Amino acid sequence: MYVVGNWKMHGSQALIHQFLPKLCEQLSGDVNVGLCVPFPYLPACAGMLSGNVKLGAQDVSEHQTGAYTGEVSAGMLAENGAKLAIVGHSERREYHGETNALIGRKAAAALAAGITPIICVGETLAQRKSGRAEAVVLEQLDAVLAEFQFSSAREWLLAYEPVWAIGTGEVATVAEAQAMHATLRERLAQHSEAAKGVSILYGGSVKPDNAAALFAAADINGALVGGAALKVNDFLAICAAAADE
Ligand code: PEP
Repeated sequence: MYVVGNWKMHGSQALIHQFLPKLCEQLSGDVNVGLCVPFPYLPACAGMLSGNVKLGAQDVSEHQTGAYTGEVSAGMLAENGAKLAIVGHSERREYHGETNALIGRKAAAALAAGITPIICVGETLAQRKSGRAEAVVLEQLDAVLAEFQFSSAREWLLAYEPVWAIGTGEVATVAEAQAMHATLRERLAQHSEAAKGVSILYGGSVKPDNAAALFAAADINGALVGGAALKVNDFLAICAAAADE
């Protein structure tokens, strides 16, 4: 099971010093935990996180180096202690026009630098309401994978994040989330032997009170957590629910 926090553009040195020591001290059980923080906080967090909590970034450049003002390369992330990088978050797709092909290239750049990409897919409310949720999500997955080569399921993570459930308090029902995860699992198995065993995280208003039910579903292998990852007690409670699974 995986629980990965996404701080988005939140946080401060004060939050780091309040959150990280408590997280490392009180985390227990068998769960892979990650925390994806804004770029400038990577060095401070790298010095404070213990071995069983992996540090992550929220984006990565597709390029290794060059005249790309404002971009941060996977090598730079690795040098600053990152082991994970979210790619293709719906906020990057929506506000920065990221395409599936770009997201696939970003995932490839991360992997080449030894960073585990967390590839996000998910449909909007309009797409779900028009009955196209599965088609949209599978199309995203196929198009991203067309640009991203890997040799083992351990090299990356997939996150299903229905856009309508992100930061809205509106969580997908366990049945809705499980159904999409099963669909993704089937497509991964068709893709390749290496893709078959990829862990699929659910993201979208995961909280301490709904985490256990989601984690009990057969194809939900953890969570990508936004809002609840800013409160250390809530994040610890979600990690504990994952460890119990
Ligand atoms: C996210 O940002 O990936 C996310 C799932 O946010 P939230 O948990 O706040 O819905």
